[in-house]
Amino acid sequence: MSDTFSDPPGSTIASAPTLYRHSGKVSPASLVIAAVVLIPLGVLFGAIYSAAVVYLPFIKLRGLVTFFVGGGFGLIAGSLCFKLKYRSRLMAFLTVIGFTAIGYYSSWAVHPALVIGPGELGGDFVPLMIQGFDPIVILGWMKGIFAEGIWAMGGGGAGALSGWGAVAIWVLEAALIFGTAYVSGMAAYGNRPFCEHCYRWNEETEELAVLPVSTTDPAWMQIRNGNFDALKKLQIASDSDAAYVELRLADCPTCDESDYLSAIGITLTVDEGQLKKNETDIFRHLSVTRAQRDEIVDFAAAMAEAVQLMREEEEALNEAATDEDELPTGDPSHPNEPAP
Ligand SMILES: [Zn+2]
Repeated sequence: MSDTFSDPPGSTIASAPTLYRHSGKVSPASLVIAAVVLIPLGVLFGAIYSAAVVYLPFIKLRGLVTFFVGGGFGLIAGSLCFKLKYRSRLMAFLTVIGFTAIGYYSSWAVHPALVIGPGELGGDFVPLMIQGFDPIVILGWMKGIFAEGIWAMGGGGAGALSGWGAVAIWVLEAALIFGTAYVSGMAAYGNRPFCEHCYRWNEETEELAVLPVSTTDPAWMQIRNGNFDALKKLQIASDSDAAYVELRLADCPTCDESDYLSAIGITLTVDEGQLKKNETDIFRHLSVTRAQRDEIVDFAAAMAEAVQLMREEEEALNEAATDEDELPTGDPSHPNEPAP
């Protein structure tokens, strides 16, 4: 009996469109280029950072430099991964963290030479910088600062930074550098789909449609499962000024086999006078066919028109309400606008 039911009730879920996933591919040439570019750059930026921290006079300024150096490491490595067409978030993550680690390590390596100073060291300045890359030297230097304080190691002044206070600063510094590098690196790498067929990134249209609807509308589940007609079932929410849903489309500019739809919930909050746009995914990069894509674009255009009409009607109502409050003086400040 049971074999006559070839389609179990759950089959609609099984045939639901898939969400985009990176293929995980990174070409060996990309890895070589990344290593050739990032290793020397990491050493150079690490040394410059170290010099900035040693020579900058104000502690606040040093903190700021630490913050920006992490962000800079992330930005450089993340954008390079994008340019080199990494299709693996893990490899992008490892590249960002690896680059940051090289920079951080070399900032320690050149630290002794910079603190003691070229004046004191003379011809030994550059050799000590190079020697500093030996982990034993770095460890010895850390132990020296821990026991004696950084100024004692530099030869002048009283021991300002030593012991566990110094260790706490190091931990904070490393956390700040690696934390900001991770955030800015993954943001620079992005999350666009890649068209393996054309070997290029998709282009994403933001705000394809701005829908004054709730992120928890049950129709989203049907849309996620491939029933795009359910877009028309979405209910308009009353508080749509502060929270709405944005439809985004990512497609390959050179073929019609790489189309993805995203529905992103947006909440607007005001933080210290700044308008902040917070995103939560309803679904991101749902695979759609070209025909479905065209349908969604048509829907978005119709929706935009409807929302525009609704706004105009609301405005007209508001104006009528204000006019009623005022004396009917034949105010000419609201002339009829010409139709577009
Ligand atoms: Zn393509």
